[in-house]
Amino acid sequence: MADVVVIGSGVGGLSAAVRLAARGLSVDVLEAGDRVGGKLGVRVIDGVEVDTGPSVLTLPEALDDTLRVAGTSLRDELSLREPDPAFRYLYPDGVALDVFVRPAETLESVRRTLGAQAADDMAGFLRYAGRIWDAAAPHFVYGPAPSPGNLARGGIASLALLPRIDPLRRMWGAIRGRVRSPHLRWLLARYATYNGSDVRRAPATLNCIAHVELAMGGYGVEGGMYEVARALARAAERAGARIHTGARAERVVTGGGRVRGVETADGRQWPADAVVGNADAAHVFGDLLPRGSVRRAAAAPSMSGWVGIVRARRRTGADVRVAHTVLFPATYLDEFADIFDRDRPPVEPTVYLCAQEACHGRAGWAGEEPVFAMANAPAEPAAGPRDPAAWSALRDTVLERMRAAGLRDGDDALAWERTPSGLADAFPGSRGSIYGAASNSPLSAFRRPPNRVPGVGGLYLASGSAHPGGGVPLCILSGAAAAHAVLADRRGILTSRDTAK
Ligand SMILES: Cc1cc2nc3c(=O)[nH]c(=O)nc-3n(C[C@H](O)[C@H](O)[C@H](O)COP(=O)(O)OP(=O)(O)OC[C@H]3O[C@@H](n4cnc5c(N)ncnc54)[C@H](O)[C@@H]3O)c2cc1C
Repeated sequence: MADVVVIGSGVGGLSAAVRLAARGLSVDVLEAGDRVGGKLGVRVIDGVEVDTGPSVLTLPEALDDTLRVAGTSLRDELSLREPDPAFRYLYPDGVALDVFVRPAETLESVRRTLGAQAADDMAGFLRYAGRIWDAAAPHFVYGPAPSPGNLARGGIASLALLPRIDPLRRMWGAIRGRVRSPHLRWLLARYATYNGSDVRRAPATLNCIAHVELAMGGYGVEGGMYEVARALARAAERAGARIHTGARAERVVTGGGRVRGVETADGRQWPADAVVGNADAAHVFGDLLPRGSVRRAAAAPSMSGWVGIVRARRRTGADVRVAHTVLFPATYLDEFADIFDRDRPPVEPTVYLCAQEACHGRAGWAGEEPVFAMANAPAEPAAGPRDPAAWSALRDTVLERMRAAGLRDGDDALAWERTPSGLADAFPGSRGSIYGAASNSPLSAFRRPPNRVPGVGGLYLASGSAHPGGGVPLCILSGAAAAHAVLADRRGILTSRDTAK
């Protein structure tokens, strides 16, 4: 009998496992797939390993904190890279704007490319975004799941917080109010997609994402992003957790109003005092628990994405590829209208490219390098998968846009692809969405499932579909919050943090 069974070895599940095992609990991690990492994925194509999921690491201190709990550290496990430049934004009017890991270099680049007024606006916007982060992060990222109740209990302090986090305006309205350059407006609007939301509807609070990447830093990881999953898995095992791949949880066994363990698809029972669901919350609630155990209104999913790996001729010298390239379409906001209003793949998508050699120092093939290509897309309809023709049209558009920008030769082949339908199949309950529910309302943060599931004793959530949300660092924090709740409940102590819920 384990103390805790974790369902899923995505970032949130591994992070919870590290913290629980390091505190001396007996932890089994059940992973349906044949490797750890979940959406932080990897493929081997003709002998070359490539990342198929995240390509930018932000808030590395969240990872470091978790590794330290297991007696190691980020510095011991990984090497971060600061690609120079980090991003190149290519606009339809021919403007090319480079962005760097260090904000001073970014501001200088904005000044050189767009002029002094744009650089001043950018500096002002980053100060504004930094203020939001400083005010919001303790409550919405690092704290327990926020609720109207705990805000009300916060009284004056909570009221004072509100104007600082700008929740009543929309991201796009706040960007337009503060930044005059249309080029910068698009660059800043794109941060809504970092949690799969609609810049026209998401609360301006999410402008703090720009601060996280542009001021705090977006890093590459030597050898590839998958090294993050490997480091977390090593730390979990070092702390004593047992990771079982090929072990699909079929149901969470309950009795007397609490969990009793997990049954896997092979019929094996995994009795446990506590279960941490790293699988999508909709899968845990809808498929794994007995029907009706948890009632939640269905939330609108965040964006999905079409993803491909292009085996591209290696460029050298002046032609060398930039780590990240963003090819904007003719009118950027149409993409959000296609995805969120018309529920269809964008007709003119923004194309995001990550040259994995330049970004992560990944070694490609002789003569060719792996280029990760991505276009945002709607999640799958609740009723079932979309016509595959929609995805082949999106794929063709992405490849043609790369070619037109001079970033793909005619014979550079698409070596691998995953459509939103493929993502939905791989991650049950997700409908292919990448970041859990969309944050298209000021109330989204309050509606996200908390890490301790009310009504089912001993059940916890640690994933991008639970508090505090998606993206690698937030999932790491989700695992930390779930582990904190497990440990607090085991001690039978309601800490002041928990009492506030
Ligand atoms: C294409 C793409 C690009 C991205 N880019 C970035 C980026 O640049 N930066 C960033 O920070 N984030 C990025 N993300 C988001 C980030 O990858 C995710 O938010 C994060 O990895 C999700 O982690 P998670 O903890 O929610 O677990 P998941 O990754 O969702 O993993 C859940 C795990 O549970 C397993 N599972 C599900 N059901 C069962 C079951 N019944 N039994 C056993 N196991 C089960 C699954 O197999 C999976 O391994 C990207 C994601 C994608 C897909």
